[in-house]
Amino acid sequence: MRLLASLLDGAARPSFSKLVLVFSASGGGLVAYADARSDPAPDELSQVPPKKKVLVLGTGWAGTTFLRNVDSSMYDVQVISPRNYFAFTPLLPSVTCGTVEPRSIVEPIRRIIKNKGGEIKFWEAECLKIDPEKKQVLCQTDIGTNFEGNGEFVVNYDYLVIAVGAKVNTFNIPGVEQHCYFLKEVEDAQKIRRSVINCFEKATLPYLDEEERARILHFVVIGGGPSGVEFAAELHDFVTEDLAKLYPTVQNLVNITVLETAEHILTMFDKRITEFAEKKFQRDGIDLKTGFKVVKVSDKAITTENVSRGETSIPYGMAVWSAGIGPRPVILDFMRKIGQGNRRAVATDEWLRVRGCDGVYAVGDCATMSQRKVMEDILEIFRLADKDNSGTLTVKEIKDALEDIYIRYPQVELYLKTKQMKDILDLIKASKGDVKKEDVEITIEEFKNALADVDSQVKNLPATAQVAAQQGNYLARCFNKMNDSEEKPEGPRRIREPGRHRFRPFRYRHLGQFAPLGGEQAAAQLPGDWISIGRSTQWLWYSVYATKQVSWRTRALVVSDWTRRFIFGRDSSGI
Ligand code: FAD
Ligand code: MG
Repeated sequence: MRLLASLLDGAARPSFSKLVLVFSASGGGLVAYADARSDPAPDELSQVPPKKKVLVLGTGWAGTTFLRNVDSSMYDVQVISPRNYFAFTPLLPSVTCGTVEPRSIVEPIRRIIKNKGGEIKFWEAECLKIDPEKKQVLCQTDIGTNFEGNGEFVVNYDYLVIAVGAKVNTFNIPGVEQHCYFLKEVEDAQKIRRSVINCFEKATLPYLDEEERARILHFVVIGGGPSGVEFAAELHDFVTEDLAKLYPTVQNLVNITVLETAEHILTMFDKRITEFAEKKFQRDGIDLKTGFKVVKVSDKAITTENVSRGETSIPYGMAVWSAGIGPRPVILDFMRKIGQGNRRAVATDEWLRVRGCDGVYAVGDCATMSQRKVMEDILEIFRLADKDNSGTLTVKEIKDALEDIYIRYPQVELYLKTKQMKDILDLIKASKGDVKKEDVEITIEEFKNALADVDSQVKNLPATAQVAAQQGNYLARCFNKMNDSEEKPEGPRRIREPGRHRFRPFRYRHLGQFAPLGGEQAAAQLPGDWISIGRSTQWLWYSVYATKQVSWRTRALVVSDWTRRFIFGRDSSGI
């Protein structure tokens, strides 16, 4: 035992892992090994290359999915985030009205790390600045107040994964920051819940006149996107199912309005869903004001502009701003540094690498992936396909090039789908006229004509948890294969350089999107543009969101919250 203790001291300490390895492999071989090799030579130690440092900024959808999937034994993984937990944002609207408790939708990041074997380091701090030249970031922590200095520290990295998400965008509309509630973080949802109850308590005070009570109970949701609509629906349920019974004297004064600049709500969904949602809101008495642009918010009124009605002032008691997201200050500063100053999110290539920065990746809401256009590369695509340098492409040459084209330019497959065609040959045949598919042989001009419109299918990816999680997962898989893939490249052929890309580019797979509309009704747009609306869709929503929870603990908590709500209703205490 003394021998073991002395081995663990001083110079012998680095050999501990070898010691344990030999001990476990050879049973009683510990003493012999210790006797023979108690002092390894310094050059032997230095032969083990230090692990590359991967620094992850953020513990949201993208950052957490990356952490859960990266092989943390291959890298020295460090995480920095001002939030020491992951939040399941799709259930935030349910938190605003007490359908689900805030703690049921969060998972401590240290628990996720522990489940991975505890190799990842976490620091609760905010990244203030990224220096891609020196490969370091400046951070600041605000935990506690009795720190020496200002809580700032610098962290170096070999690889940086930026996953800091986005912040609420008020578009600098006067008064929004001061008077509106936001729905972005768990704290925001808790504030909204307290404020809704406060409005009801205030409205019942004895000294108010009817007009003032009605103003206080006017809830305005600004933004008719999925989160705004879901919050309005939740609030309507909360009022009709729970609060109306508890505040009977003021229940008739409650009014919910949704203000939307566009002509319809839920514009990202299929028309049938938009129509259903609008009709349902009308039936429920939710006032939908589409074509209304908010231009100013004061403490008691919202000023809007409308083409036919001009400027209108809408008195309100509580307003929730759910009208868009924008870049965080750290991202704005970083984009200015790397020459992307006029953008709204960090531009990456299809491998999620930040353009012009070595070893920096950006994923989730803080990034936009720019899809390369076919027409930008058309000459090279043709040249690579034309293996015999004949200046024309035969059917065989086209077929040989197809897989690489589909992998590198997903818009081609999307375009073919819209035209209900099987492959590029159908497209070429359609543009060439009356030729048999097997006899096709085309020139560069004909190739250009056939593919002229495919880039119309290039679309920016939406800022959703689905995209962020898929990107985090994709990047982790690339990191896990980074060391062995040099000899086995799995990506498509490079366009202007020889060889192949090491990895396939990131490809987003849309798994569908839900719009809960209240009253146990929901709408869903599923892959293949399959639409499902009604009560059964709400049950599908329950099962999908229960399944998607990051742990059994949160799954159990969420399901028990739903059950509690079914049996006892929502709690209306103002805490
Ligand atoms: P986030 O999840 O926002 O995470 C960002 C992380 O970075 C956080 O941990 C944050 O603390 C940290 N961070 C911030 N600043 C710094 C800094 N300076 N340094 C270090 N770390 C920092 N999407 C769907 O697909 N389906 C839905 O149903 C859905 N519903 C939604 C409902 C609501 C109310 C909201 C607000 C969003 C919803 N979304 C939904 C969108 C989804 O939440 C986002 O697209 C997703 O969170 C983006 O993931 P992210 O990892 O990029 O950012
Ligand atoms: Mg040829």
